[in-house]
Amino acid sequence: MDKWEYSESIESDSIVSIQSKYGHFIDGKFSTPNSKKYLKTVSPSTEEVLASISIGNKNDVDSAVNSAKEGLKIWSKTAPSERAKYLYKLARLIQERSREFAVLESMDGGKPIKESRDFDLPQVAANFFYFAGWADKLDISWGTKEMKPYGVVGQIIPWNFPLLMLAWKVAPALATGNTVVLKPAETTPLTALLFAELCEEIGLPKGVFNLVTGDGTTGSELVNHEGISKIAFTGSTSVGKYIQNAVGERDIGLTLELGGKAANIVYNDAALDQAVEGVVNGIFFNQGHVCCAGSRLLLQEDIHDEFINKLEKRMQTLRVGNPLDKNTDIGAINSKEQLEKITSLVNEGVNDGGELFQIECDLPSSGYWFRPSLFTNVQPSYNIAREEIFGPVLTTLTFRTPEEAVEIANNTEYGLSAGVWTEKGSKILWTADRLDAGVIWANTFNKFDPSSPFGGYKESGFGREGGRHGLLSYLKVQS
Ligand code: NAP
Ligand code: MG
Repeated sequence: MDKWEYSESIESDSIVSIQSKYGHFIDGKFSTPNSKKYLKTVSPSTEEVLASISIGNKNDVDSAVNSAKEGLKIWSKTAPSERAKYLYKLARLIQERSREFAVLESMDGGKPIKESRDFDLPQVAANFFYFAGWADKLDISWGTKEMKPYGVVGQIIPWNFPLLMLAWKVAPALATGNTVVLKPAETTPLTALLFAELCEEIGLPKGVFNLVTGDGTTGSELVNHEGISKIAFTGSTSVGKYIQNAVGERDIGLTLELGGKAANIVYNDAALDQAVEGVVNGIFFNQGHVCCAGSRLLLQEDIHDEFINKLEKRMQTLRVGNPLDKNTDIGAINSKEQLEKITSLVNEGVNDGGELFQIECDLPSSGYWFRPSLFTNVQPSYNIAREEIFGPVLTTLTFRTPEEAVEIANNTEYGLSAGVWTEKGSKILWTADRLDAGVIWANTFNKFDPSSPFGGYKESGFGREGGRHGLLSYLKVQS
């Protein structure tokens, strides 16, 4: 088949203005870090240094928590309908400046502009709108139980959906009357810093939103700060376990959104072409840096060869390259460390005996890249079938009966999401009923809505974000 060639269509980066150095955002303004230490955030598609970012130390975190405590005095006296107005303002400003945010997100994190523009930013705005709507309806939502905010909330987020994870955390926390100290990931802090500028612009009362940038040590200082009443964390299961131990002795709230190794189950009666699209979206969206990615493809044995054939053909059409090119499907891997992790797991899969298919394509000469990859001939015991690769790598397993599909799907330490592909509604319900996963998609994948709760079972964590359930993560029963 002749391949259609695409002309480049590069989104201009002139819309963003990046400072050479950033401080923390504390007490309603940017300030120089007490630590006087900085790290560099780079563009993973060019390896160009974009900016120097402050590394928060104990004193920086202390200032931010104190600021949030002061902010709480004002925020708790702000009428819920007024709190809602601030959130609506943020939502509208994010919409107005969405192109700028999208370009910045793609530069700092490597994701394709068509995803940051058409997925991340609309979802970010939708979350602020949604939770703004809840702010003045909390009293009527839980019957006789009186709920109150935790107070000062510490929030730590990962690098795969930087601004969206901020929105998932900040919007419900502020709507329910808490104040926030947020720590973004060290490789992707720039959109959170731009968000802080918006908070200043709309005149959000000082101390309501605080941002301390840095690395894992900064996160750890936040977790261990006595002034924090709740920690909300999204990231790896290993850091999640560390946090759970660290706060174990203290009477504070905790929600953990951790990793996943989702099964995407395709029955032999599924619409196969549609399922191929869903499987591609399930694993290659955002370079596979997705906690709920459909990273284990479970195929009914009699359609294995036909499906793999269709899938490989479809994969070969994926365009890998410059995240700012509007034609790009697969952008850069977020960091050198992540690329090394993916490479090492894939090498292990090959050594174990897995059969590897990778698409043929040119890769840019600088930056961090990984070809979309598919493993067949895999045993459930291989690490590639068990560990979260968090990259564009799909692992195939086969099953004969629905019972066996469910058994293999649940044979994992994780329990975040799953997908089911079949033309039979009854089979969807039968399967979904038996899967240990927080989110289950049927004949689709990776669909999100702010009103729909999201979260895991088992080592994927606990607590829910989104919807009415998500509000409960930021409220406790009045004692
Ligand atoms: P990570 O290494 O756990 O980091 C997450 C955040 O925690 C980052 O801000 C990180 O800072 C910080 N951190 C690191 N060590 C810490 C410590 N000892 N104490 C406190 N904070 C610490 O995870 P990641 O590699 O950024 O993200 C990938 C993981 O997130 C994957 O496992 C993925 O499945 C999971 N994830 C889950 C969800 C969900 O909703 N369930 C959503 C997205 C991602 P640095 O960046 O500076 O290291
Ligand atoms: Mg970066």
